Amino acid sequence: MFALSDRWIEYFFDVAQRTARMSKDPSTQVGAVIVRPDKTIASTGFNGFPRGVPDYYDHYERREHKYPRIIHAEANAILSSHEPVRGYKMFVTHCPCARCAGTIIQAGIEQVAYPEPSPEVEERWGDEFTIARSMFGHAGVYMHRLPAAVMPMSTPSEKSVRVWDDFACSLASLI
Ligand SMILES: [Zn+2]
Repeated sequence: MFALSDRWIEYFFDVAQRTARMSKDPSTQVGAVIVRPDKTIASTGFNGFPRGVPDYYDHYERREHKYPRIIHAEANAILSSHEPVRGYKMFVTHCPCARCAGTIIQAGIEQVAYPEPSPEVEERWGDEFTIARSMFGHAGVYMHRLPAAVMPMSTPSEKSVRVWDDFACSLASLI
């Protein structure tokens, strides 16, 4: 179903990870890449404030300022595309949240690839991921979950725990 060789999948995840590093969010950097059927890149996105909204560090540091302003990487990639993305694939550095799952479905993305969350992350945020996966399942969006080993970023560490803690709060504010 996910008709791409491992070489291409690695390449698109490299791009997604590089894109994630563009985010000015000090705690959570997420990258997304949208790929056409001919394996060219249609769009990329990372989590951040909308164009023209100042990237004040204080606004990223304080959740009450950050969450209402921030657009997730998946939505940014869709919104930044200059063409419809119906039938395209998306590569994301994290499992999408339920809100982004809805956006991905409505945009017509047919396949989504993301790294397998670590057991610790799955245990803590599994409910949110379960909703997203259920939405993808109902909508017929094919999920390609990559082994954690493919993604260096998914290795649990003190930093990633903090990142996920922050991410979970952002999810809580969305649902
Ligand atoms: Zn999201």
